Amino acid sequence: MAEKRRRVAVLGATGAVGQRLVGLLAGHPWFEIAALFASEQRDGLPYGDAAHWLLPDPPPPGVLRMPVQKPCPEGLEADLVFSALETGAASTLEPLFRDAGFTVVSNASAFRDDPEVPLVIPEVNAGHLALADRQRKRHGGCIVTNPNCSTIGLCLSLEPLRRAFGLRRVLVTTLQALSGAGHPGVPSLDALDNVLPSIAGEVEKLEREPLKIFGRLGASGVEPGDLTVGAQCNRVPVRDGHLLSVSVETERPATPGEAEAAFAAYESPLASRGLPSAPLRPVVLTGGAMRPQPALDREASGGMAVTVGQLRRCPVLGLRYVALVHNTLRGAAGGTLLIGELLAGRGGG
Ligand code: NAP
Repeated sequence: MAEKRRRVAVLGATGAVGQRLVGLLAGHPWFEIAALFASEQRDGLPYGDAAHWLLPDPPPPGVLRMPVQKPCPEGLEADLVFSALETGAASTLEPLFRDAGFTVVSNASAFRDDPEVPLVIPEVNAGHLALADRQRKRHGGCIVTNPNCSTIGLCLSLEPLRRAFGLRRVLVTTLQALSGAGHPGVPSLDALDNVLPSIAGEVEKLEREPLKIFGRLGASGVEPGDLTVGAQCNRVPVRDGHLLSVSVETERPATPGEAEAAFAAYESPLASRGLPSAPLRPVVLTGGAMRPQPALDREASGGMAVTVGQLRRCPVLGLRYVALVHNTLRGAAGGTLLIGELLAGRGGG
């Protein structure tokens, strides 16, 4: 692809997802960081002082002295803006950047349900990016959203089954990592030695977003996919990696053997595009008796693959399995980066 690296800005660069983005962007073959934004309190601070660094690898040396700014599109020279803003801030700031002509690729939930805004998992519904072109005509720029972290794990793991057999009903119970709540996130006295049986807004996202992702893009927007999802969400004392227990009723009944063959045959539809962050196998089937596990499987394909195991017959819905997604990589920063690459590869952004 392009010879010249594209300049990108990061909104919410100091948070849990923003740090992942900064880490992934450093040394990225197509992109270079042009600006880092956080809240007003960090305005002017060097990034190295502004970010309470959470990742095992140290912050990239190139950003340590870069000044963090309060978000403002004026004077920004960037081809693409990644947003890892907290939802409230995203709802006011992302439209400012869109209306100033920027393409904003967002992790936040603020605009995921907006009929003008595509909600994209590149391997599943890249075609929905046509909505971004329609938005550009109206607003100058556009907002493109990445789904909720658990939704990404659920939809990617369902995709091989959807292609082979169609989907009708899905039940999912999540065990979600602490980093999903950002930093500082869940108080330690609530999290340690405990499981929290509810996460604000999460059930609704997990039940609603797959319908848009699996929906068909028509002249007037996305017609929701014809499936029903029921969800229950729990917060568990794991650092990174959301585990999902899934039961699924397919349109055409499938045995576990047939489902296994569908998972094994599934390859990335992006394989020929040469996108740097796209794994060749976005869904990895493991036969291990005790897999997948967050500690062992979350880094599969650099954290960009969803691992599926425990594939069995479900006496209620037909099939069941366990899936694991790295919530801040494929479920957030890596997911938006892949959308950015897809946009850059098709000449947008
Ligand atoms: P976080 O750790 O709380 O970080 C939030 C970021 O937003 C920080 O950089 C913060 O800057 C910035 N911010 C907050 N208010 C702002 C304001 N008024 N103006 C400008 N910047 C502001 O949250 P996170 O976990 O990284 O999540 C970021 C987004 O991704 C959220 O919308 C979340 O729902 C979504 N998401 C998170 C995950 C995950 O696994 N964590 C997964 C999928 C999606 P300061 O440091 O200056 O406060």
